[in-house]
Parts: sequence; structure tokens; C-alpha cells
Amino acid sequence: MSATRVLVLNSGSSSVKYQLLDMRDSSRLAAGLVERIGEETSRIRHTPLASGGETRESVGPVADHEAALKAVAEELSRDGLGLDSPELAAIGHRVVHGGRTFTEPTVIDDTVLAEIERLIPLAPLHNPANLTGIRTARALRPDLPQVAVFDTAFHTTMPEPAARYALDVATADEHRIRRYGFHGTSHAYVSRATARLLGKAPEDVNVIVLHLGNGASASAVRGGRCVDTSMGLTPLEGLVMGTRSGDVDPAVIFHLARVGGMSIDEIDTLLNKKSGLIGLCGDNDMREIRRRIDAADEEAKLAFDIYIHRLKKYIGAYCAVLGRVDAIAFTAGVGENASEVREAAVAGLETLGLAVDGALNAVRGDEPRLVSPADARVKVAVVPTDEELEIAAQAYALVKK
Ligand code: AMP
Repeated sequence: MSATRVLVLNSGSSSVKYQLLDMRDSSRLAAGLVERIGEETSRIRHTPLASGGETRESVGPVADHEAALKAVAEELSRDGLGLDSPELAAIGHRVVHGGRTFTEPTVIDDTVLAEIERLIPLAPLHNPANLTGIRTARALRPDLPQVAVFDTAFHTTMPEPAARYALDVATADEHRIRRYGFHGTSHAYVSRATARLLGKAPEDVNVIVLHLGNGASASAVRGGRCVDTSMGLTPLEGLVMGTRSGDVDPAVIFHLARVGGMSIDEIDTLLNKKSGLIGLCGDNDMREIRRRIDAADEEAKLAFDIYIHRLKKYIGAYCAVLGRVDAIAFTAGVGENASEVREAAVAGLETLGLAVDGALNAVRGDEPRLVSPADARVKVAVVPTDEELEIAAQAYALVKK
């Protein structure tokens, strides 16, 4: 029996999300989440999808990532899908920052671990958690290939004019300051799925991908390769997000420090956690914002309008970067669900060939679909993202080589 299963692990600082997939048909066998690791009230939620069983949930202390992964392994074993199964081909790990080193999914060995560690200053919150997940999984199954799939990898094709900031070169180089971009797995998956939806090869298609979740980023993809993206050195740059400001004049930071008396850490928290939609109106969930707008709430309306204004600017910018645009693809929680966001983002952009069809845009669904009028020059697509499937597919392709 050949091994066709891949376990995908997304290890955060206090959580581990996982999915077990069978790559023969990309089906999901199990999925779950361990959260609040290190607290008394850690929670494990596991859904045995293959058997169609009920979601199991338990609350109780899970001390650390090692305990969390052991709990995951136990849950999987209860469904006959344990980590010791000979059908497991690989474990795929989401790793946030691959710097300029990792342009592709990579089988993990000690050298790779050391390099991910060297990149910690670029992702001080994420890479350590990813590393802990990898180390723990390696200890549990030392014989099994473990593959790192990097959030930044898809963006490493960005040409220098897009990737560089106009900073003093020596300083930028010394501190590895450049635009790396994030959400790369999603941008890769969605740009390819959009080409498929158009009945074309990725090489023949230019797409603007708008990943609009709680975090949000845009990318310009020419012939399957990323040529620009809105996130930069960190995920703070670019679009207005749930809790992040996106683009601000960097002098706002000096002003807050000098005039506002805020510390660097306070400003960091302000821009990453207390800005964006939540900073503007107190809510970061687009559903709630839409409810408030329907109830004539001015604050929510202004937050929505600022969000859309920024989005439009990036659509316009990426039309200019790409020259020819075949499609714009909306994805992630907001992009897939909020028809009002899609409609508002392209409103008034008819001169760029962009429009949505009201009836098509209102239809909800889980499948990739077009929401532009049949004769539209630039297609507008809604393409549900699937980062776990993309990570599993990349890991599997690598170990089956
Ligand atoms: P993600 O980070 O991709 O999981 O997206 C999460 C965000 O998607 C939430 O914070 C909401 O703002 C948004 N979202 C989820 N479902 C809906 C919906 N049905 N309508 C509008 N926005 C939604």
C-alpha cells in the first residue's frame, strides 16, 4: 500500500491547527484545532471527516506544543488515522517566513531548521512557533519526511523594483529590509484556480488576487508568477485589515513616539492589533459592520468606505503594474462572502474593464465562480482559498518526486 496521506500542521504561538488529507482525491480525513496552549482552559476540537463522525471537543490544560501534538496524534488514532500509519507520506508545516532563502517547499533537515531559526528576527512571533511545531513532529515521527511550506515563497519572484524599499541600501541590506509578502500559499492557490476557471494555463493569465480575511493582502500575478504584493517586510503593510492599519505614513510612528509619548511596543500593538477596521469602528467582523451600516451607523460606514478606498487603490495600482489584467479574484472570509465588498471595490472602475453582475455576485457558494457580466473585459471571480490543500499538495509533490 503506498503512502498517500499528508498531515498539515499550522503551529501558532498558542495554537495548532491541523488537517489530514488523502492526496489520491484531495479529500479531508480529519481536521481540528488545539487552542490556548499553555493555559488551564486549552481546548481541543477534532472532526473525523472521513467517518462523518461528530466533532469531539475537550477542555483541559495542554501544557505546550509537544502535549498539543500528542493530543492531536491521540485524536487521529481514535479514528484509525494515527501518526504511526504507514499511509502517512509526509507532514507539511506552514512556516511564515522563509526570507530570500526559501523559494520553494523544502524537506526539513537540520540545516533547514537552522536557517528558519536564523530568520526569526524577521518573524519574531511566528517562526519560533512554527519551529516548535516542526521539532515536536520530528520527535514523534523521525523517519517521516517533514516539509516546510513558506508563506513568503510565492512572492520571491517579485522583481527588485517591487521588492525593494527606497531606503539607504547598506542599512536595508544589513537588516534584510525588503518586501517579502505573506499569504503566499493562498495567492498561489487562488491564482492557479482562477486560471483554471478561465479555462487557461496559469502561464497565459494575469490575475490580481485579493485575499481579504482578518489579515488582507493583494497580489499581482503575471503568468503564474507574483510580480507585486501589498504586504511588505511584515504583514502590516498594504490593505486595511481587521486589526492592522495597512499603509500609513511612517512618520506617524515618530509622531506617536515624540508627541504622543508612546513606546515602540505600544505603537506596534496600536498598528497591528488596535487599528484597521477595529480601530476605526470597534468591530473587525465584516458581517457586524454590514449590520451596523444597515442600521445607519455612520462610524461603521466610514470604516467600510476607508477599507474600500484602499482596496480600490491597490486594484488600480496592480492594473498599472500588470498592464493587461485577465481577472480579479476575491478570496478568504471577506472576499468569498461579502458581496457588498466586491461590488463596492469595482464600482466606478468600468474604464478599467471591471464590473460585477448584481445577480451573479449575490449568489453564495463554495465553488470558484465568475461574478462579472458575460461580456466583461476583465473577469471578476470568487475563488475560495484552501491553504491546507495547497500545503499538502506541495509537500506531497516533493516527497513523491
Ligand atoms: P479569514 O481570516 O479568512 O478566516 O476571514 C475572517 C473574516 O471574514 C471575519 O473576520 C469576517 O470579517 C469575514 N467574514 C466571514 N464570514 C463572512 C460573511 N458571511 N460575510 C461577511 N464577512 C464574513
